[in-house]
Amino acid sequence: MPSTMRKPFNYVETAAVQAAVKRARTGQAGQVGPDPALHSEDAELRWVEAVLRHRLSLHSFDRPVGIRAQNDDTHPLVANGRHFPAVALTIPFADRTLDFLATYNDRGRLTFDVIAPCAQCGKPVPTEEINSLEDLGDYLLQARDTLGGSPRLRTSPAHASACPARGN
Ligand SMILES: [Zn+2]
Repeated sequence: MPSTMRKPFNYVETAAVQAAVKRARTGQAGQVGPDPALHSEDAELRWVEAVLRHRLSLHSFDRPVGIRAQNDDTHPLVANGRHFPAVALTIPFADRTLDFLATYNDRGRLTFDVIAPCAQCGKPVPTEEINSLEDLGDYLLQARDTLGGSPRLRTSPAHASACPARGN
């Protein structure tokens, strides 16, 4: 299969697209309730993984969805931060992965961005905020008005050094 051909959606992607279409039609997103609580600081990676699993309703599938979580040494956990790394999360499928970056936004909320190649330099950068299954569906459909709108897109240190997409 040529690499330019879009592969069919897998089961998580299909559910995301269905959720996005439903939200667009009804104006209402599915209710997932509050995030799970962080019980112990040394389990932060597992907590971040649990929050992503919760926001994307991954428990609703009739099969387990694996997530790999590890420190991301390229991005800081908070804007302009130095001491704590962001968290990189990967959902592996048979033929591809969905990759996310977890950071805290300006209001201290844990926020997820989907990682995709920069349109300018091709490096993997935080591209769009994805905080629900509907958000993921919009991203997959390229339907969102704010596509390319993650605040981390311009500030990401993952861009090539001369990349024009990187702000200063
Ligand atoms: Zn770039």
